[in-house]
Formats: sequence, structure tokens, C-alpha cells
Amino acid sequence: MDHGILKIELGNSRGDLKEIVDKFHLLLKRTYENIRQQEAQESRKVIQRFNIDLFEDIKRKVTLYALKLTLQQYYRLKEPAVLKDSNQLPACTERYHTTFRLPCAHDIKCRLETNERLSLEEDFHSHWWYDKWANKPNKPDILDQVQNPRMIKSKGRPKRALEDAKLKTD
Ligand SMILES: [Zn+2]
Repeated sequence: MDHGILKIELGNSRGDLKEIVDKFHLLLKRTYENIRQQEAQESRKVIQRFNIDLFEDIKRKVTLYALKLTLQQYYRLKEPAVLKDSNQLPACTERYHTTFRLPCAHDIKCRLETNERLSLEEDFHSHWWYDKWANKPNKPDILDQVQNPRMIKSKGRPKRALEDAKLKTD
């Protein structure tokens, strides 16, 4: 953050620590909202270029960086050789997914083949979400996790096992 801004915002404050902390919170909030707005605008532009249904459920819900990485994976499916013969897509190594916790080209392919959209909960790790709590309607509470760990563990990426079986790769 720019120190100049901070000084202007806090400089005139002669109040107590709480007042300074409150002001600082407000400043952070405004800065965050600003960045968020800019990103939302940019995301709209990026998605408009790919006016496809695939991204409908995740647009404006994941960070721009996550969106761009996902588009890169999407592009892998659009390479001429792959379009001609889908076997030209290199086999899934899981490395991309393990590193980024984002849908790889194979996950996207799977969604496209079944006419599904990318899913925020299943395809994107929550650290990519803009609003973790607001977008998590079915998040199990801590008591659930303690009492019923197996139920929780079985959630998410249900397609992966199927996809892997089909590809017989890793
Ligand atoms: Zn893959």
C-alpha cells in the first residue's frame, strides 16, 4: 500500500488507537473494494471474449488470476491438433490440479462433454473464491466435520475418479 495514502488517511487523526484501527480498516475495505471492482470489470471483458456457458457459474466469483489460468487450460482444448483429434491432448498428470487446485484441460473437457458448467465448489479451491463465506451455502460446520468426517471427505470432485478410470493414465 502507498504510504502517502496511509499518511493522509491517518495523519490528521488525533484520536485513540481504536479510532486509528477503525480508520485503517475502512481504508483497507475501500482499497479492497476498488481492486475488486477493477477485477470484476476485467473479468467481464475476459469472459465476453469467450461468451460461453461453461463459465456462467463461476464468473465474478473467482479471482481474475484463477480465471486466466482456467482460460489457458481451456485453450489447450482449442489447439488445432487437439480439435482435430482429442487424443492429441497430453494425458492428465494431475500436476496442474495438485499445484493450483483449479480445473485442468481434462476437467474442462469432461465438463464440456457432459454439457455441464464449471462448478465453483467442485472445480475451484476456495482460496480462489472472492467471497469464501458468501459462496459457501453448504459448507459443513465444524461440528459436522468432527462428528462425520467421512461424509465431508467424500465431497468435491466426484468426477475425477470416473475421468481417471476412463483415461487410464496416471
Ligand atoms: Zn488434467
